Amino acid sequence: MKISKRAQEVPPSATIAVTARAQELKAQGVDVVGFGAGAPDFDTPEYIKEAAIKSLKAGQTKYTPAAGIVELRTAIANKLKNENGLEYDPAQVIVNIGGKHSVYEAMQAVLDPGDEVILPTPYWVTYPETVKLAGAIPKVVQTDKSTGYKITPAQLKDAINEKTAMLVLNSPNNPGGFTYTPEELRAVAKALEGTNVWVLSDEIYEKLIYGDTKFISFATLSDDACSRTLTLNGFSKTFSMTGWRLGYTAGPIDAIKAMGRLQSHMTSNAVTFGQYAAIEALGAPAAEAIETMRVEFERRGKYMAKRLNSIDGVECAESTGAFYCFPDVSSHYGRTIGGAKIAGSMEFAEALLDQANVALVPGLPFGCDENVRLSFACSLEQITKGLDRLQEWLSK
Ligand code: PMP
Ligand code: GLU
Repeated sequence: MKISKRAQEVPPSATIAVTARAQELKAQGVDVVGFGAGAPDFDTPEYIKEAAIKSLKAGQTKYTPAAGIVELRTAIANKLKNENGLEYDPAQVIVNIGGKHSVYEAMQAVLDPGDEVILPTPYWVTYPETVKLAGAIPKVVQTDKSTGYKITPAQLKDAINEKTAMLVLNSPNNPGGFTYTPEELRAVAKALEGTNVWVLSDEIYEKLIYGDTKFISFATLSDDACSRTLTLNGFSKTFSMTGWRLGYTAGPIDAIKAMGRLQSHMTSNAVTFGQYAAIEALGAPAAEAIETMRVEFERRGKYMAKRLNSIDGVECAESTGAFYCFPDVSSHYGRTIGGAKIAGSMEFAEALLDQANVALVPGLPFGCDENVRLSFACSLEQITKGLDRLQEWLSK
């Protein structure tokens, strides 16, 4: 029987595939060091779990409005106001089944076939696929080290034409581990003035920033920026709730309503008792747990970057946000290591896993074949062990 063209063309998520492969090998007894994970290795704070259990026991087990319970939409609107300086009515907020579905649904809501979507590299693996699933066309803008892998206003202006419908911004960035400064974002906002380009601002890593890095929500930059921005966030990273599948989107009412109509047919509401627990998650006690996690990530990120830079032919900027290092390893391309020809990041990742039992994600599915992604959402001990192996493997 036939499989749709759309489904035939969509590749599996590379980040999920690497993580699954590492877990499979571990289950077979192989001592794999996994740098693939895009999930914090901390448990969900206890009080959030308690809140879920409580609401489950209280019988919060039925359907809710598709866009989410009004109490949670209000709590999110309050969070966006108090923490981000964004003024959204609860009706301008929709709760989605994870930030991944926020991305998919936002694109379904505002893109038409033939529209172009600007994706600066490196981009999260899911963006180009969700663009294509909306019938739109990814317009990849190649960035490089010289700008810290950030799109410049000139590059942006150059990429915009009459078909451009959206720019996807992700800061702090997965996989790049960099964060746009407020000034850089202001320049991006300015370059968009006078256009009809939506901005999908993926702010899911907002709390994980390091050193003197500042985070700012794109929609706060100006009224113009606010009117074109869909602000995307979620509970997965900040509260270590990846398995709960809770994300949200806030933006202009027409777009949020359109997402709501789509969601009423696609998934209906996010898990009901999870929504009640999410209200608690947004309460004050989370700050301490978030800070503990952030401090630990900062320590690991610094160590990982330092170690990577000490390896011959590996170049890595220290992460200012998220929990990834994205080193350039391309000086090793063209070599043959342990019998494997390393042509690019795919072969690099495959050979490293086969020969040294270290799992990382190749840069190619993020649009940067010169790089590979290592997550530091694992213990310092694992990081040390994995980097020892990487160093030894590359010195062969
Ligand atoms: N955006 C980015 C940049 C991500 O890395 C992720 C990864 N999980 C998501 C969105 C979506 O996360 P979730 O679906 O778990 O909310
Ligand atoms: N977003 C995370 C990552 O990039 C989790 C995996 C996924 O959902 O793609 O690794």
